[in-house]
Amino acid sequence: MLINQTIANEISKVSEIAAYLWQREWAERNAGNISVNLTGLQNVSSKDKENKKYIECLMPEEASDMLLFITGTGERLRELVNLPEKVACIISIDHQAKGYHIVWGGIDNPGILPTSEFISHLLIHLFNTSQNNTHRCVLHTHPIELIALSHHPELGHNEAKLNKALWSMLPEIRVFIPKGICIAPYELPGSLALAKHTTEGLNNHSIVLWSKHGALATGKDALEAFDFIDVANKAAKIYLKCLQAGFIPEGMSEEQMKGLEIFL
Ligand SMILES: [Zn+2]
Repeated sequence: MLINQTIANEISKVSEIAAYLWQREWAERNAGNISVNLTGLQNVSSKDKENKKYIECLMPEEASDMLLFITGTGERLRELVNLPEKVACIISIDHQAKGYHIVWGGIDNPGILPTSEFISHLLIHLFNTSQNNTHRCVLHTHPIELIALSHHPELGHNEAKLNKALWSMLPEIRVFIPKGICIAPYELPGSLALAKHTTEGLNNHSIVLWSKHGALATGKDALEAFDFIDVANKAAKIYLKCLQAGFIPEGMSEEQMKGLEIFL
């Protein structure tokens, strides 16, 4: 399938973000995955599906006719920078939601299949559609300091304490992550249980921290989804720097935090 300019722009944002993830050491080997809901941005004809790989996969019926850009399972995210058409694909879900065609991508990579986190991504896109929000991108990555904090014996298990600690590290964190972070308990990667915790968490949080694994956020595009995790990880980094320097950070006061509410 020949993609239009709108879709090409979305993919180029994904490539830009993939470079940042690699620079930050959040995307080792095949870690992380990104998808973008392209439904409605381009029509897929039956000719576009001709001779294209078809994968049977039972999906919720609401997934009917969805079009998704998604990174490939086992692929290196860093290759998204220069070769998105090799390590990612666009799938067109059929009308019965019983399978999908791979209509783009997998160039020189005939074994390409969507990420093993596909079901999580799909359920999150369906959730966002049901909420009528504008979030088209789902990003999962391995931000070092946030993962480190999920191992913290106290903050790693106490959402209220974690959010209070991170929000109070610097004013922008409170303003740009207004809904805070949800801690999802450890679950097997790619499992339905993890997908369920994630969609529940996104109901009222900006980021879901997968305990001892990574983080996930959604945004109107790859740039916005990345910003959420980047800002939150900055707070985690400052918190840990203070601990490394031998003191527990004081954090902004309740009064200072209250003063920020004019921006919310
Ligand atoms: Zn992961």
